[in-house]
Amino acid sequence: MTLEDIKALDAADPLREKRDLFSIPEGVIYLDGNSLGALPKATPDAMNDMIHRQWGQDLIRSWNTNDWINAPRRIGDKIGRLIGATEGQVVAADSTSVNLFKALSAASQLNSGRSVLLSETGSFPTDPYMMEGLATASRVRLIPELVDPSRITDRLAPDIAVLLLTQIHYKSGEVWDMSEITRRAHEAGALVIWDLSHSAGAIPVELDECKVDFAVGCGYKYLNGGPGAPAYIYVAERHQSKVRPVLSGWMGHAAPFDFDDRYTPGKGMDRFLCGTPGILGMCALEIGVDIFQTVDMRVLRKKSRQLGDLFIDLVEKKCTGFELASPREADIRGSQVAIRHPDGYAIMQALIERGVIGDFRAPDLLRFGFTPLYTRYIDVWQAVSTLADIMNSNDWRDEKYSVQAEVT
Ligand SMILES: *Cc1c(COP(=O)(O)O)cnc(C)c1O
Repeated sequence: MTLEDIKALDAADPLREKRDLFSIPEGVIYLDGNSLGALPKATPDAMNDMIHRQWGQDLIRSWNTNDWINAPRRIGDKIGRLIGATEGQVVAADSTSVNLFKALSAASQLNSGRSVLLSETGSFPTDPYMMEGLATASRVRLIPELVDPSRITDRLAPDIAVLLLTQIHYKSGEVWDMSEITRRAHEAGALVIWDLSHSAGAIPVELDECKVDFAVGCGYKYLNGGPGAPAYIYVAERHQSKVRPVLSGWMGHAAPFDFDDRYTPGKGMDRFLCGTPGILGMCALEIGVDIFQTVDMRVLRKKSRQLGDLFIDLVEKKCTGFELASPREADIRGSQVAIRHPDGYAIMQALIERGVIGDFRAPDLLRFGFTPLYTRYIDVWQAVSTLADIMNSNDWRDEKYSVQAEVT
């Protein structure tokens, strides 16, 4: 691979014009869009209109005149198109953690003869934490159980009520086979919740086709909805009306503006709403999600695989001392690559100071996300050249790079 080859790849990239929809600072190679997506150029104007006109001038009338009230359903349906969900099965709302609680409580209700909530060790911790929380709050004794990922399918037995898995691992980027695992869980009588935080906007997802029961995911990673953007929840249509929500807030009521003393769950996905949606956050999320409405996810996935392959190939050729911590096979690797080094923290700080932004996950992982809408092949080339420089010059050994920040 020469620099000329890399430039040719960028010139032939069917997604090359999408980069112009994002505001990427001069001199920055941003390889952390899997943690906080970049700012779409259209977001500041949309937020400005939201704040000055819709909020400032139209005030409370905006719930109707600017259709604030339907934002969770409208944006939910748009996200649904990216994850293989037909209309009326996704709402944008709350955080991923809160939506996990809704999905876990709903699924355990639907499978009430069973008590074990099963997940894997080593996954993003909010998922097992929410399992623990639900177990604490439940009258029936729910038992959260985490097993090694290699033992998940063996553990599927008649006591398992719910299997919760993150489709793409937050550290290694390894991809579970959604179709196969869902099928095996159903065969064993369990319901399945998929956390799509690292999948939606990164790879094609087919929730309906895989007969998934529930799914949740983040708005601020690949979907570019802004820091702490609203998340989303998917509930298969066949389950919706059977669930009596545990987080039974007024926005999920059948008629919120009747102000009844008693809760009656709303129709379909409405009952999976809870309180008043954060409209400023919804506004930014919708801009991020809209960018994907014209993107073919198969085209995006092809580029995501190539970016990851190129990164692995270049690191192995140009840098020593690193060990690959992600699958080598692109088929089972999401849109991120992790490499291992005992001094990973300091090396990442040195990279960030030179404008190559990835992140560090304890104890020793340097993680790089490849967001195909705005990451170019040349960015991967330059990022690895910078990494090779830092290693060859030993610059990363400077003490200042070992000072730990609060957020890594
Ligand atoms: C990022 C991430 C979350 C984040 O949850 P929040 O409630 O938005 O903080 C949850 N699960 C997984 C797998 C994640 O990667």
